[in-house]
Amino acid sequence: MNILLAAAEINPFAKGGGMADVTSYLCIEWAEMGHDVVAVLPSYKAIDKSAYGLVETEISFDVSMGFSKEKAVVYRGTFPNSSAKIYLIGHEEFFDEEYVYGDRNEDEDDDRRFIFFNKAIPELCKAINFKPDILNCHDYHTSFVMPILKTQYQSEPLFERTGTIFTIHNLSYQGIYDKYRVMDFTEMKHKEFEVGSWFEHEGKVNFMKTGIMYADRIITVSPTYAEEIKEPYYSEGMQDAINSRLRDITGVLNGVNYRIWDPKIDIFLSKNYNSESLEIKEQLKLEYLEESKIPSKKHHLPLISFVNRLTEQKGLDIIENKINKLLSTNKFILAVLGEGQEKYEDLIIEAKNQFPNNVILHLKYDEGEAHRLIAASDFLLMPSKFEPCGLTQMYALKYGTIPIVRSTGGLADTITNYISEKGIGNGISFPHYNRDEFEAAIRKAVDLYKSKEHIEIIRRNGMEENHSSKRCAKKYIEIFKEVLDNKD
Ligand code: ADP
Repeated sequence: MNILLAAAEINPFAKGGGMADVTSYLCIEWAEMGHDVVAVLPSYKAIDKSAYGLVETEISFDVSMGFSKEKAVVYRGTFPNSSAKIYLIGHEEFFDEEYVYGDRNEDEDDDRRFIFFNKAIPELCKAINFKPDILNCHDYHTSFVMPILKTQYQSEPLFERTGTIFTIHNLSYQGIYDKYRVMDFTEMKHKEFEVGSWFEHEGKVNFMKTGIMYADRIITVSPTYAEEIKEPYYSEGMQDAINSRLRDITGVLNGVNYRIWDPKIDIFLSKNYNSESLEIKEQLKLEYLEESKIPSKKHHLPLISFVNRLTEQKGLDIIENKINKLLSTNKFILAVLGEGQEKYEDLIIEAKNQFPNNVILHLKYDEGEAHRLIAASDFLLMPSKFEPCGLTQMYALKYGTIPIVRSTGGLADTITNYISEKGIGNGISFPHYNRDEFEAAIRKAVDLYKSKEHIEIIRRNGMEENHSSKRCAKKYIEIFKEVLDNKD
């Protein structure tokens, strides 16, 4: 099968969150299964092209953007240790920032940058003569490729049988823009933007809705999230669009690329371990606490970590409410690795100032630190308000680190609450987004930690599970086949 994957984030070239991990392993797994895979990504300035062996090609073309023509240049390479191909679309100005998105919250100019990128994708296929059986677009940044193909390339033989699949990673980022600008950049007809049309939502162009309406099939990143988004609480205003496509939506649980996330081979750890050598995990914890200058008299306490974006989605408002009370019990060490909204960064700084010997703080994005901290920790905290899938809890399972989660989306699909009488369950989970349930979950963790026997059982339960990215990639292929069969 010829598979074209388009995304704004693909590891290791450009990462903002979990989407980058997923788009990356999908390409690698599909290529390993024998498919011909082409991935396309904007050529952000921050990408170190020489480090990844990405070379500039002779290919360049003009992309018509309403009143102007914009020149695209193309870089080419492969994924590390894979035959999957990666193409980067460059522009002298549009991707000239150090970060992936124009600003972290739908910058004013992101409509222009991403429409340019979307319009360049079919042109790239023509230039490299790639006939995609499948186009898999990820989140709103790439949703416009689908209507562009349907309206502007319908007579192009290269795309006559291309099936389109839209993967929703997070409905809360939708790409909402001024319709006259988008009309101009896309060069699509005025009627396409009228009230009630597939592009329009509340008087604006909505890229997320566009993806939902135009794709042949829609994948969400977990089965529970596929159910949740039918309801207004989780749908972020998209419930009508979602409910109009119910037959075409499937939840496919994300997976873990165990080539990178496995304590047995993890290159970031000073020592490797598995479920038979958990004493090494204990040593890694002690090393981490020493490096972090936590006094040795506190080393016996459980280490609870939070490795995530510091945003409301990730449960920061219930943490905010309880953090001082819980830390004042002096019953655990809290380690936070993350960056995000200023008010939540300030909250954690404040907690560190107040409880310097019980809090470890890294206000940054650091891949290696994430590996080391997850390995060193006893528990991983994810009290999310909503969580389309979440990857970190699955990484934690593999590392024998016990997830403490609010049961929503992918967290509900992967983490089961430990029942001590039966010895079943791989974590601690609480059902409602509620500060008292959160507090009770932390207290349960602290209590369980007193029993080596229980902790060992939960760890083993989690470490034995298999959430491999292979399973996820195979499920995608099954859906791709169904889409292609329907075209016959
Ligand atoms: P989301 O995509 O909503 O941010 P996910 O759990 O799906 O959440 O994926 C987050 C990814 O980003 C994981 O690979 C996680 O390890 C990584 N990550 C999040 N915060 C940091 C950080 N501060 N430093 C390093 N990696 C991080």
